[in-house]
Amino acid sequence: MPVKNRFAELLPEITEWRRDIHENPEILFETHRTSALVAEKLKAFGCDEVVEGIGRTGVVAVIKGKSNKSGKTIGLRADMDALPILEATGLDYASKTPGAMHACGHDGHTAMLLGAAKYLSETRNFDGTVVVIFQPAEEGGGGGREMCEDGLMDRWSIDEVYGMHNWPGKPVGSFSIRAGAFFAATDTFEVTMKGLGGHAAKPHETVDTTVMASNAVLALQTLVSRNADPVQNIVCSVTSFETESKAFNVIPETVTIKGTVRTMSTEMRDLAAKRVPEICEGVAATFGGSAEVNYMKGYPVMVNHEEQTEFAASVATKVSGACEEAPLVMGGEDFAYLLEERPGAYILVGNGDTAMVHHPEYNFNDEAIPAGCSWWAEIVEQRLPS
Ligand SMILES: [Zn+2]
Ligand SMILES: [Zn+2]
Repeated sequence: MPVKNRFAELLPEITEWRRDIHENPEILFETHRTSALVAEKLKAFGCDEVVEGIGRTGVVAVIKGKSNKSGKTIGLRADMDALPILEATGLDYASKTPGAMHACGHDGHTAMLLGAAKYLSETRNFDGTVVVIFQPAEEGGGGGREMCEDGLMDRWSIDEVYGMHNWPGKPVGSFSIRAGAFFAATDTFEVTMKGLGGHAAKPHETVDTTVMASNAVLALQTLVSRNADPVQNIVCSVTSFETESKAFNVIPETVTIKGTVRTMSTEMRDLAAKRVPEICEGVAATFGGSAEVNYMKGYPVMVNHEEQTEFAASVATKVSGACEEAPLVMGGEDFAYLLEERPGAYILVGNGDTAMVHHPEYNFNDEAIPAGCSWWAEIVEQRLPS
């Protein structure tokens, strides 16, 4: 069973939606235009219920099958938000909003799930209920978490959830997936180191925070190299180093460093949450200063459930002939919250030889649409056979 013919027919229309969304990117929870467009289309398709305002700007729609003997409900989720990036693709449908860009392909995800919703509303060739979920703020805002907090799973009695992301560097329309931990937990830290400022030519009369903070940056690397079990996956990156001094001859009183920790297990996550403050406070004390550490928990590890992963892979194999095992990804995914509440799986669909996601020259590949839409439709028709 290859790509569904209906999606080859719908490709020009779905491509048009995708490019319209691409041209009008909206960041985090500010997906007002996109959400309205999604809700309007879902109503036009004849969905049985369309609800806006779940997780602030999230949209949920219900599509009932021909029958409901199974009593089962499957959730299909796409993300709608763009990134604060200045687009450099030069496309004729490039972002009309400078500094906002669909650089992660969520325009494609939204369009593909809309395409699947249109097909499922037309055919209803399944026994049970489908809930399509369009979330805002995947890129760091926790839109998926907010939709869950608004009662998404219980309100629509969702039994299983599925998600999909495009993946540059993989053949267009090919699929890859892995069971268990897949995307990393993404935690962040902000450390303010305090010393004693003064004249740069009289360092002995100061407590130099630049030297202190530089040592902290190096010492933080020992979290990975000396504290973590070498067979575990963990990343610690310091990404910002700021002093309040702009002068050549002033030792600043404070330095603030920021960074991120990515882990694949609770054990490593807890280790980092304990060691980052210990290291920074310890280094500060060594130099006669102090450190104030704010360690912030972000998205949890995204864990694909075994049974649903196997099913998702079998559907992908039928759609595109094969499904590879995906490598671990140290990036984060808001879908983790949905998978904490219900069993499900998250799959990657190849975007071809394009720039990586989050790059100013990235673009979603419309050629992936038929495979992506077919996967959504087959997930429903095979999981809820009529
Ligand atoms: Zn992204
Ligand atoms: Zn993304």
